[in-house]
Amino acid sequence: MERMTEADTIFALSSGRPPAAIAVVRVSGPQASAALRALIGKLPPARQAALARVRDPQNGETIDEGLALWFPGPRSETGEDTAELQLHGGRAVIAAVLAALGRIEGCRPAQAGEFTRRAFENGRIDLTRVEGLADLIDADTEAQRRQAFRQMRGMLGDRAEAWRAQLIEALALVEARIDFPDEGDVPEDLTGPALARARELRGEIAQVLADQRRGERLREGLVVAIAGPPNAGKSSLLNRIARREAAIVSPISGTTRDVIEVHLDLDGYPVTFLDTAGIRDSSDPIEQEGVRRARERASGADLVLWVLDASAGGEIAVDMLTREFPSTAKWIVWNKIDAVTLLRIKSLKSVIHRLDYHTYFISALNGSGFAEFLAALSEQARQFLGSTQPALVTRERHRRALEETEAALDRALSEPSPVREDVVAEELRLAARTLGRLTGRVDVEDILDVIFRDFCIGK
Ligand code: GDP
Repeated sequence: MERMTEADTIFALSSGRPPAAIAVVRVSGPQASAALRALIGKLPPARQAALARVRDPQNGETIDEGLALWFPGPRSETGEDTAELQLHGGRAVIAAVLAALGRIEGCRPAQAGEFTRRAFENGRIDLTRVEGLADLIDADTEAQRRQAFRQMRGMLGDRAEAWRAQLIEALALVEARIDFPDEGDVPEDLTGPALARARELRGEIAQVLADQRRGERLREGLVVAIAGPPNAGKSSLLNRIARREAAIVSPISGTTRDVIEVHLDLDGYPVTFLDTAGIRDSSDPIEQEGVRRARERASGADLVLWVLDASAGGEIAVDMLTREFPSTAKWIVWNKIDAVTLLRIKSLKSVIHRLDYHTYFISALNGSGFAEFLAALSEQARQFLGSTQPALVTRERHRRALEETEAALDRALSEPSPVREDVVAEELRLAARTLGRLTGRVDVEDILDVIFRDFCIGK
């Protein structure tokens, strides 16, 4: 991407695709006030909505009437001077306003994510909040929204910053021993208390990491593969699931013709269903590749629904089930119960009794047994994704950073006595830097600050 200078004033349509009732155009940068003056002829009082007539500066013609907001930096979203126009959301209105802004000296269209990027660079938000913001915009379900909102409010970022501050204090203690070993003002044992803090921190981080990847899972949703022999009714089941639920978030055809994905909101939890109808042996090389991908995707699922035709032989094909999905939770779904007698269901139940699987009896055709089955799926999603304890870690990046921090602390803590202070200091520094990378704020200057604040050394 072309590197653009910070002195640029950027503008963009920040609301959704036109036409719409309202369109929000944002402007950020040193020319934001000039842009407002040029378009509405005044600067509204800071942070108060003002009714404004928007004119084309070239010919003075009124483009639209709307609301204008003025947020002088640094108390703005981006930390820069920011202006916001709320216009009527018609295509021509938006085009005219954007064109007028583009003609103002020093103004140019913003690149993707550039407002947030500036907010980050100006220290308004840390990296984890940036990620939370992105997740909030992408959130499809209530549970995802809650998690993203917490992340955006700094649930992880603030915690990481607090940990980093504690680490820097511990590091300051050790460094004071190293730098001023003979100073009378510096107490003898500073490394002991420093390591005690490190041990506490390590415990807290380990606790946060021991979350069964709840946060990452919630971002991705519960992945359910629908599998089983041909003609058992897999596609019919998926259709019923998709039709029954009003809230189909986004039905996406897989990259191959063999996997179809349906994204659903089940009681607030995101669930992705994969129809793996394509899992079968084939001699066609293109189809083989499709089958391979279908297998791969399905074997990574969190739950497999093994659909069987109750009206057919009643072969459970458990061998195939365990072969295809060795490590995944599996449920057996007997389909087509509309086409069999009660006696038959009874005998299937007795067979199933000996196998340790959750079993459901349904008809994808007329829907019998379906409500209970769907309720069980919702419950599974809730158990898998929900928790009274919100997860702090929502991405692999967070996990890696915390694991690296933990490893560095482990190394510092495993120094045999008498500890090598320089080794301890180096590991603490590394741990602090890793946390700094997590929030995007690595800064060594504050280490010195803490030293000079806590000890009167300079004299
Ligand atoms: P798939 O190959 O496993 O995806 O199976 P399909 O969903 O294509 O269904 C195979 C056949 O079984 C179709 O003719 C369906 O109409 C029929 N079928 C599916 N579900 C039911 C059911 O619950 N009851 C009955 N009687 N027929 C069903």
